[in-house]
Amino acid sequence: MSRRFEKVLIANRGEIAVRVQRALRELDIASVAIYSEADREALHVRLADEAYCVGPPPSGSSYLQGERIVELASRIGVDAIHPGYGFLSENARFAERCEQAGIVFIGPSSRAISIMGSKIESRRLMREAGVPVVPGGIEPLADLEEARAASEEIGFPVMLKASAGGGGKGMRLVGSSADLEKAYRAATSEAQSSFGDASVYVEKYVERPRHVEIQVLGDQHGKVVSLGERECSLQRRHQKVVEEAPSPAVSADLRRRMGAAAVRAAEAVDYTSAGTVEFLVAAGGDSPAAGGDSRAGGAEFYFLEMNTRLQVEHPVTELVTGVDLVVAQIEIAQGERLDPGLEGLQPHGHAIEVRLYAEDPYHGFTPSPGRIRALRLPEGPGVRNDCGIEAGSEVTIHYDPMLAKLIVWGKDRPEALRRLRRALGELRVEGIRTTAPLYLGLLEDEDFLAGRLDIGMLDRKLAAGGLRRSPGEDEARRETVSIVGAALAHAKARRRAAQRAAGPLAARRRWRRAGRQESVRGEG
Ligand code: ADP
Repeated sequence: MSRRFEKVLIANRGEIAVRVQRALRELDIASVAIYSEADREALHVRLADEAYCVGPPPSGSSYLQGERIVELASRIGVDAIHPGYGFLSENARFAERCEQAGIVFIGPSSRAISIMGSKIESRRLMREAGVPVVPGGIEPLADLEEARAASEEIGFPVMLKASAGGGGKGMRLVGSSADLEKAYRAATSEAQSSFGDASVYVEKYVERPRHVEIQVLGDQHGKVVSLGERECSLQRRHQKVVEEAPSPAVSADLRRRMGAAAVRAAEAVDYTSAGTVEFLVAAGGDSPAAGGDSRAGGAEFYFLEMNTRLQVEHPVTELVTGVDLVVAQIEIAQGERLDPGLEGLQPHGHAIEVRLYAEDPYHGFTPSPGRIRALRLPEGPGVRNDCGIEAGSEVTIHYDPMLAKLIVWGKDRPEALRRLRRALGELRVEGIRTTAPLYLGLLEDEDFLAGRLDIGMLDRKLAAGGLRRSPGEDEARRETVSIVGAALAHAKARRRAAQRAAGPLAARRRWRRAGRQESVRGEG
């Protein structure tokens, strides 16, 4: 039943394309890259065994051209396609097209993608499967009056969400009854324009929750396992920026219960491959930092959605479990059985990932495209770089600004935090701005250091002008330079005073010396 792939096409770019290539190479499978005209010189192209241009720079004309990519794959004799994340990874039609063309889609079935891609359908199915969902409706709202009745029953604040939703589109927080009408109109019209489906439903707004997600793997023989959680509460405008495993605020008991719920969720759609079940964990529940106890406090967690693909933050799970998730995806797609040893696996040590975006964190996160003049990646114990760039790479505005991920491992969270600080100190990216300084600021934040996290924390701190790093390595070095500079200036002033005292002859000598220095500087 199992077959071995000889050639796999990676329908993606950047760091994730490089990551998948690494797994393929270790498995002795040839890798095929695709690229847009803007990525001709990109790292993922140069590292591939074969590479094909699929269109002009905009992703809609290249990386999202599913039909063209499947045709190319058929023509060059590819066994399977790995979609990475983003782009075509959660596109049920693309998975179906691969299946029709006799090419294995390295991911779950198109049916699982399509059910989990619908917020309302997945909520309904999860309820049936006994997975806790955020309290609220499982039917689209017919009109504003129905929205009002449902919201009052749940109790404000509530969230309106597009039934077909995703990417935060058609989602509105409604604080009180007075705000409902405006929010309802905005959500339905945004849902219509984004998904061609105006329907929305309402659910309880969970205040100051944490985002904790469970990594699962399912094989084609009906086996699903949980590989533990990732803490992803550090988000900027609902976009994750720092992730860790295990969560500093999940007990072994909560891990077991969330893991079991995630396995039920995956089993409900006959899930195969790697997937992630995202949960909101209510504030004050299981967090040791909050002084709670899961049994006494009854920590509540609610199913948010299932991502039917590899996640950006998968490396933190890899580092604490020792499982190569991309290799696992490929083996599962080849029909192999999951290793029975994965059942009940406990995390070993602690891993933290920071995402390096080409953005200026202290100027409104404005994009910072340009050429990378020089790059020094941190090395040493417990450091991993998943990187899609190198010195000379051109960062364009066509694609996601995430360039690389820096991941550290330590025997416990304090060691991982120390390593992260040390590694960020070694990192140098010249030519563009990145979000790295933000993480140095975060490493001085007491709440972060204590693991007191919730999904709004980063935005609140940024809005208050926080997370600016105090003089760190860079500044310290610059300060050293300026101390030396001050000493030199002082010596020069003393020399001048002595020369003035020595009279006109000394002054002429000084002019000549200055002239020589000028010409030397001119050559430099
Ligand atoms: P999308 O799929 O559109 O990104 P999600 O349902 O995954 O939307 O929600 C995105 C983010 O919005 C979550 O990570 C969380 O931060 C916040 N969120 C969503 N639903 C709720 C809720 N009911 N209560 C509080 N926050 C929520």
